[in-house]
Amino acid sequence: MTNNETELLAQVPTGLFIGGEWVDAEGGRTLPVRDPATGQVLIGIADASPGDALRALDAAVAAQESWAATAPRRRSDILRGAFDLVREHADDLALLMTLEMGKPLAEARGEVTYGGEFLRWFSEEAVRISGRYGLNPEGTGRMIVSQRPVGPCLFVTPWNFPLAMATRKIAPALAAGCTVVIKPAELTPLTTLYFAKLLVEAGLPAGVVNVYTTSRSSDTSGPLITDPRLRKLSFTGSTEVGRRLLAQAADRVLRVSMELGGNAPFLVFEDADLDKAVEGAMLAKFRNIGQACTAANRFLVHESVADEFARRITARVAELKVGRGTEDGVQIGPLIDDRAVAKADELVQDAVNRGATLLTGGTAVDGPGTFFEPTVVAGVQDGSAILREEIFGPVLAIATFADEDEAVRLANDTDFGLVSYAFTRDLARGHRLIDRLETGMLGLNVGVVSNAAAPFGGVKQSGIGREGGLEGIHEYLSTKYTLIPAD
Ligand code: NAD
Repeated sequence: MTNNETELLAQVPTGLFIGGEWVDAEGGRTLPVRDPATGQVLIGIADASPGDALRALDAAVAAQESWAATAPRRRSDILRGAFDLVREHADDLALLMTLEMGKPLAEARGEVTYGGEFLRWFSEEAVRISGRYGLNPEGTGRMIVSQRPVGPCLFVTPWNFPLAMATRKIAPALAAGCTVVIKPAELTPLTTLYFAKLLVEAGLPAGVVNVYTTSRSSDTSGPLITDPRLRKLSFTGSTEVGRRLLAQAADRVLRVSMELGGNAPFLVFEDADLDKAVEGAMLAKFRNIGQACTAANRFLVHESVADEFARRITARVAELKVGRGTEDGVQIGPLIDDRAVAKADELVQDAVNRGATLLTGGTAVDGPGTFFEPTVVAGVQDGSAILREEIFGPVLAIATFADEDEAVRLANDTDFGLVSYAFTRDLARGHRLIDRLETGMLGLNVGVVSNAAAPFGGVKQSGIGREGGLEGIHEYLSTKYTLIPAD
């Protein structure tokens, strides 16, 4: 580790953040956080017990009434202050994400910008929560429709975007007047801890945001989800875990938002601008080392251009520089852990065994660190696991289609529906795809769709609800209707 890295880690709070105080976990338990590029332990942090998690909820419940009564302008100012602080500390936040998650530093900087934008966007939305007032059709009553904060929320976030997945939930919740308990992923908790420190600096009152870190996710979230004081659960992570949390939430009819897994199709039609399609493909596939819910998972290419697309993309992929994300020019960092490497390996082997051709890469890189070579497999056959499962690694799999109907059928042939990408120069086809693709988001001739001003979310088993955009704040508001006599 460099001196710079050691100094930064010394600034990260290692306790639980409860009721405005940094406290130890029950029994002083700690858990190690590792650098996936080296396997080395970076730092030890508090490992919360179920009792600690309940104390975090106590603090959020205690702060709820006064936070809901805080003037929208004040809530807005605090969020705007947090945005400014994120910008000021962008280098530290970026390095921290690279250390704990592995993404290349340039991409970590991109995430700081993206994650920060939710603070700015929702600071602007905080003062625009409005309702309706009108006479009923009979003329006998006045109808008032207002919006109230939902109440204390539990957020459970994944490891792949340590800052953005936290701000995408915290910012709208605070704007709406909700208090928060957040549990970041145990693999990448440092960014959230550092961000909590910035929220304090921005003037956030004690108890409004509480953070607990733990190696016992299920044991700690379970008691909170069944606690009648909790009013909302927002989860980002795998569909498998989301399904389990939904079942727990169902017992209490708890309000939920679920941002789950994806299996994005990337369609390249015969009329596509292939240069643009290749550029889009590089972004849609290799951003975040392929570990994004929005990562293109299935490249479905018209049979007349498939060989040319494969040739051009393989030339680009073979040049990608692999290494620790802190090194200059690195484009592909490590995967998050050994299991992720084993999974990428299995999916490639299965595809090749079923008849696909390996064009570049295809194997794990020797340690230290959990690296996998940037890979292209073409001619992937129906029935290959790589077409059904989320790859979550730097592996690009190409299959072909014969016409638009087949392309749409293959694209929709999945339980997921988070994002799709399509490259075509035919405007009418573009409009047909908007209607026909079963997807929450569509990138038409672009490889990245995320934006704080846009509603992010999926259909089918990719989730429930939207984050960002005009829609995002409504996940944290309840509609209340009041009737009063007209005279
Ligand atoms: P994961 O489901 O394993 O973990 C997500 C979070 O849930 C972590 O904080 C983890 O500690 C916690 N968790 C795990 N098991 C739990 C349990 N039984 N009870 C309670 N909490 C539990 O997912 P991951 O590996 O961290 O993230 C990758 C997944 O997240 C991928 O499927 C990806 O597509 C998805 N994802 C979705 C979005 C989106 O916006 N739709 C964004 C990012 C990631």
